Amino acid sequence: MPTIRMIEPSVRTVDTRKVKVGPKRVDNFYLSPGWRKLMAEIIAERGRVCEDPDCDGRTHHAGMRVFGDHIVELTDGGAPLDKRNIMLRCGASHTRKTAVERARRLAQRFD
Ligand SMILES: [Zn+2]
Repeated sequence: MPTIRMIEPSVRTVDTRKVKVGPKRVDNFYLSPGWRKLMAEIIAERGRVCEDPDCDGRTHHAGMRVFGDHIVELTDGGAPLDKRNIMLRCGASHTRKTAVERARRLAQRFD
């Protein structure tokens, strides 16, 4: 009895995109046990608060998700695991700050 064989594709799929456009570049540092532990400690000490003085607080609520932000960014030589260099932000504040920061870096790059 004849069998039907699947024919293997002779050409593998190749990702030809020159720039990978992931939804978000995940920096391994923010997945590290050291960072996670530090964040757990900070949240235990400070609570789930947004410490951004520029935030209008409209999205704040009890038990909200908070993000740890380096006050002096790592790329600027900021201490990665020093609590004094970490500011907690709500999601809205974190998103706004990240966009501002990205714009600033892009502007610098093309100066
Ligand atoms: Zn906020």
